[in-house]
Amino acid sequence: MKAIRTCSGCGVPLGISRNMRWNGNGTITQVRDPAHRLIFFESDNLDRMWKALSEALGVTEEHVWELVIASKSRATRAFLHRTLPWYVNLAARLVGYRALMSAIEAQGLVMGYGKITLGGQYPRRGRPERVTVFIEDPYSLPLFCGDFKGAAEVLERRWASLTYQALDERRHQIDVTVSDEKLEEEYFHVQDGPPRREGDLAYTPCPECGAPRELVRFSWDLSRGIIRDTESGRRLAFFGTAALRAVFDELRHELGERVTPTVIDAERRNTLEAMGVEEARSGFEGLRVRAAIRGLGLLTALSLSPERMEAVVANPALPEYLVGLALGIFELATGRKGESSWELVDGGDLRIEVIPAS
Ligand SMILES: [Zn+2]
Repeated sequence: MKAIRTCSGCGVPLGISRNMRWNGNGTITQVRDPAHRLIFFESDNLDRMWKALSEALGVTEEHVWELVIASKSRATRAFLHRTLPWYVNLAARLVGYRALMSAIEAQGLVMGYGKITLGGQYPRRGRPERVTVFIEDPYSLPLFCGDFKGAAEVLERRWASLTYQALDERRHQIDVTVSDEKLEEEYFHVQDGPPRREGDLAYTPCPECGAPRELVRFSWDLSRGIIRDTESGRRLAFFGTAALRAVFDELRHELGERVTPTVIDAERRNTLEAMGVEEARSGFEGLRVRAAIRGLGLLTALSLSPERMEAVVANPALPEYLVGLALGIFELATGRKGESSWELVDGGDLRIEVIPAS
């Protein structure tokens, strides 16, 4: 595979600085598909979150994974169908999985998904019935499984099923079996997010590549597909917000309203591990940049005292994540555990209030 080029000024891979935009309204979007929004977020709390959900809701972890894989594959189908229709048709007929996988592998390395390699396909020529991939250090195994299942379904325009197994502590094998059952057009619907507000946040651009200078705090290990925050040591990855939204909505639909507080609590704990006290106390400007560099939205108001915290976020990516973040910030800054109330108000702004837990 070709070496992945990085910026000599800030170390960010050019695949990131050329293809993503950090916007003044607190969002991260793809240059070629501005409707596709992403967050750049700590990933190693996800497996803990699936586990917490299964415990809180009294279902097996396998069942939670099944729901995650199903909803993620649906979101991936919608995304690929919208962005790559011509390529998909060409790829399946002419280019084959090997070329497609090398593109997916390179993307996985810069996006922080881990190291993806194609294991093989059967039969070797023509329409494959079974395709094997290996992934080392996956950012989340069920999310990756959903991605791969969705990609195979779009390529083959047929339903697929999959199995996964751990080969050792880091490596997993995933086998996708393509069925004879055709995938109909209606499964490709895309849900677009609400309209976005303008914003006035200004980043300092890297003079070499134009990416926000704030990204120097993250390091890319491009041989393994691992991105880390050099201050907290925590791992991050880029996630499509529509896909994560689809996963949480599906979990709530299947498992009930207790999904929301469980996700919020997982993000509260994530914040306690990923953020320092000083950062939590960095005030409006500091927290505004911290949220925006992750694409979570634009903090437009903040007040924080030991008795109360109030925040308003325009263009909120995932309200549960932001509420968990607010709870974690309150706890770090005041030393007291908080309890939250929140609502989406006019124009889609998220209003959060945290008071000390009773
Ligand atoms: Zn740069």
